[in-house]
Amino acid sequence: MQDCIFCKIINGEIPSNIIYQDDDFVIFPDIHPQAPIHYLAVPKRHFPLFREMTEEDKATLGRIFYKISTMENKLGLDSGYRVSINQKGEKGNNAGQEVMHLHIHILGGKKL
Ligand code: 5GP
Ligand code: ZN
Repeated sequence: MQDCIFCKIINGEIPSNIIYQDDDFVIFPDIHPQAPIHYLAVPKRHFPLFREMTEEDKATLGRIFYKISTMENKLGLDSGYRVSINQKGEKGNNAGQEVMHLHIHILGGKKL
């Protein structure tokens, strides 16, 4: 989608250090890390919110969580980590979602 920063990273318009990708999703470091380890796992298909998920998106999210589990050592997450997803709501943005392309934060490397 035009003007979406994560779509631009996915299609290579904006450089980023993509550490994993397949047909459905990418994983790259967050530009403003909130912990020593902070990656974003991002479905390639642009959709902003859970409530816009298709059947295919549901499967992609399952594959993302499975992939994270197999990459714990490679990502330096073997002391424990947190995954989180910020979601804007219909009536407000309590979680402060900034990028309206669904993404999963992966945080670790210190006691959170
Ligand atoms: P949100 O608040 O939407 O859940 O999180 C958006 C995240 O995207 C933030 O942690 C922010 O640092 C990250 N981010 C925003 N722009 C870029 C970018 O151009 N490159 C990367 N790698 N991360 C970005
Ligand atoms: Zn997008």
